[in-house]
Amino acid sequence: MEIIPIEVEGWRRIARFVDEPSGLDAIIAVHDDTLGPGCGGARVRPYADVDAALDDVKRLSRGMTYKNALGGIPFGGGKAVIIADPKTDKTPALWRAFGRAIETFGGQYYTAEDSGVTEDDLRIAAEETAYVAGVAEKGRGGNPSPFTAHGCWRGVEASARARLGKADLSGVSVAILGIGAVGMELARLVRENGAELVVADVNEEAVAFAKETYGAEVVAPAECHKADVDVFAPCALGGAINHDTIGGVKAKIVAGAANNQLYTPDMDLALKERGILYAPDYVINAAGVISVGLEILGSWSADEMTARIDRIGETLSRIFERAAAEDRPTGEIADQMAREVIADARKAA
Ligand code: NAD
Repeated sequence: MEIIPIEVEGWRRIARFVDEPSGLDAIIAVHDDTLGPGCGGARVRPYADVDAALDDVKRLSRGMTYKNALGGIPFGGGKAVIIADPKTDKTPALWRAFGRAIETFGGQYYTAEDSGVTEDDLRIAAEETAYVAGVAEKGRGGNPSPFTAHGCWRGVEASARARLGKADLSGVSVAILGIGAVGMELARLVRENGAELVVADVNEEAVAFAKETYGAEVVAPAECHKADVDVFAPCALGGAINHDTIGGVKAKIVAGAANNQLYTPDMDLALKERGILYAPDYVINAAGVISVGLEILGSWSADEMTARIDRIGETLSRIFERAAAEDRPTGEIADQMAREVIADARKAA
């Protein structure tokens, strides 16, 4: 396998791995490892070229640095991208080669699932390296979606407290865009805690289920952000808050599970200027990576997960308080708090 180091200022280590026999062409990046080894998923995508893959892995690995720091787990930021079509190019040989690539980091990078990657894929990679997480037996770690939903529910509660002065979710209306693995569980949790529900999804079976089971009002996906509700919870794809949608948002809170909810960074300030409280996505949806982190540390338990998930609400409350005190957008405050966690750890080292 050819290992091509890529020097990028601000990143601890980036390397490209090209293995002709298996067809592997991957880039692994460790952004910051002050708090611990880089930890973040691997993604398979048919990138247009190596530069596009490098841009993505840099952006994602830096994001993991912030997410892990505010998630309170002793891991830095890392990510892997594999340049391939997840539908046609995944083979056992490719996963074994990927495992060998991870092994060259000697524990400086732990991988897990991300888009285009399954638990079965990672099991094969794990034949070649110990630094794979998210393949735990059922009930211990494993599928993170229920944890992510639980963390979001706590985040919605913290947001409602800060913006609406509500002690709980009774009578709070929540519009969930995307009722898949996370969104449907979030729907159950908020409904069971007294919220009124609006849902939207391209999957008609899912919306029929939510209507029947949770009494949800159903709207078209393109209309969901305009729903006259207290909370808009994007739980489908990224970019739900963009120049086209922001003007239509009636909710006072944006708090959902989707990654990269702000299509462009200026949406952070734009939400603030409209009086909309934004729960930064990487903080509210961190329970999945927290589960992976505990699994790596060997300290996963249901009780520990619940305690950690409750802290997501507390972290968001601190972000909201500081954003209000400093009159700054919440996303900006979250980034700064993550940098402070890392700076404090550096000083203490
Ligand atoms: P999922 O695929 O199970 O659910 C996504 C849902 O969105 C599906 O029901 C799908 O039909 C719907 N959808 C897709 N495109 C849509 C559109 N244009 N309009 C309306 N609905 C649409 O995924 P998930 O695991 O529930 O994850 C949801 C989001 O949360 C993603 O952005 C994911 O990156 C993020 N996230 C998930 C986890 C996790 O633990 N699963 C952790 C962190 C972040």
